[in-house]
Amino acid sequence: MSHEAISVFDIFKIGIGPSSSHTLGPWRAAQRFVQTLDQKNKLREVTEVRVLLYGSLAKTGKGHGTDIAVQLGLCGDDPVTFAVDQIESKINDIAAMKKIVLLGIHEVDFDPREDIDFLMTEKLPFHPNALTFLATLNNGDSVAETYYSIGGGFVIKEGEETGAVHSVDLPFPITSADNLLHWCIKTGLSISEIVLENENAWRSEKDTKEGALTIWRVMKECMYRGCHTPGILPGGLNVKRRAAELNKRLLAGKPYNNYVSWLSAINSGGNDFKYTLDWVSCFALAVNEENASFGRVVTAPTNGAAGVIPAVLQYYIAFCDGNKDEKIIQFLLTAAEIGSIFKKGATLSAAMGGCQAEIGVSSAMAAAGLTECMGGTQKQVMMASEIAMEHHLGLTCDPIGGLVQVPCIERNTMGAIKAITASQLALQSTPDFAKVSLDAVIKTMWDTALDMNHKYKETADGGLAINVPLSLPEC
Ligand code: SF4
Repeated sequence: MSHEAISVFDIFKIGIGPSSSHTLGPWRAAQRFVQTLDQKNKLREVTEVRVLLYGSLAKTGKGHGTDIAVQLGLCGDDPVTFAVDQIESKINDIAAMKKIVLLGIHEVDFDPREDIDFLMTEKLPFHPNALTFLATLNNGDSVAETYYSIGGGFVIKEGEETGAVHSVDLPFPITSADNLLHWCIKTGLSISEIVLENENAWRSEKDTKEGALTIWRVMKECMYRGCHTPGILPGGLNVKRRAAELNKRLLAGKPYNNYVSWLSAINSGGNDFKYTLDWVSCFALAVNEENASFGRVVTAPTNGAAGVIPAVLQYYIAFCDGNKDEKIIQFLLTAAEIGSIFKKGATLSAAMGGCQAEIGVSSAMAAAGLTECMGGTQKQVMMASEIAMEHHLGLTCDPIGGLVQVPCIERNTMGAIKAITASQLALQSTPDFAKVSLDAVIKTMWDTALDMNHKYKETADGGLAINVPLSLPEC
């Protein structure tokens, strides 16, 4: 039977901040557009390229770096490998020269101020995050392609709106929490074991495990960098980075020179409640400050919410059970399955569902991963996930200045703490007595998304975005 299948590595993707839907997705769309032109032997015939941004991509695209992302994508650069410290100079060069080298092969005139159109009042019906690429060829013909960035870095092209990520046969097809529980009961396997079996459809078990550890390495490097980088975030809001100062204060001069000795230094401080709480906040702040600075991050399941899962996993490593590869893999596989069920039953896109789709889902994922690692049953894992989302229902998206900074960065600390509380509650409960199932909360989240006013769906037209007086430079 063929069905929509989402891999762990579709949920966790290495990329560049600040937004999976507004940066990573448009970047991938631009890459696909130029690659398609090249495959059709039309790339070298292009004389002009224009990009039209609709809906939420127009309204918050400047703050989220959509214009930067599409230029890098048109150049054929890859968000997984492109050196983040080269972004500014490359973008400045394109603006100064008014030229862009498509796919690194073919140079055309391109003025970002003229050729990237932020269509503030227009949107396309399928999804609020839409963008169209228009290429004019030397014989006067033109090629146009429209893409939708549907959240979490997932991109679909017009005409492929089913949204299916892969069509493969999995041993355990899962579209709901109920399906997942069915397979767990039938096989006696844990959630992470079910996921590992399914991942065999794509690659060997060894490669899946190595891939999960690579994801954790990138998350951990991002967190470590964020904990050691002070300063002011870009974008004009003058938001001060806090993780580095907090890291320094909490360690109170203890020596370390790498992640492992840093972890030992953290460990040596004990596990007093306020100390632990401060560290969880510090981990989450660090990742999202990196994200806001166009740093390398992992979508989990989005960039805006990229700090929740690393913060909770780092909490587990530092304060619960130590640094064990098998547990890290177990955490990430379990969390990814929950993210995948939310994507299938609701959305990972703030432009569709507000912040409940980002921080809410990341918190539900982290709660699940933590609960399985702490020895919870499959039902307790789902209960933890349900509790975490239940208390994010209705959470709106209203980023000030359209930047992924306020409320986004702090919101990751809240998502992480709620995930830990939800896990602990589930571990102390009997899931058979729970009144709300995970599937019921996913449906409720989706119903709430449909009812939510568009002002609170990543438009910066409502909430904090209009009530906090801040002046951004016109640019
Ligand atoms: S408010 Fe939430 S959903 Fe909106 S940009 Fe910030 S983190 Fe993402």
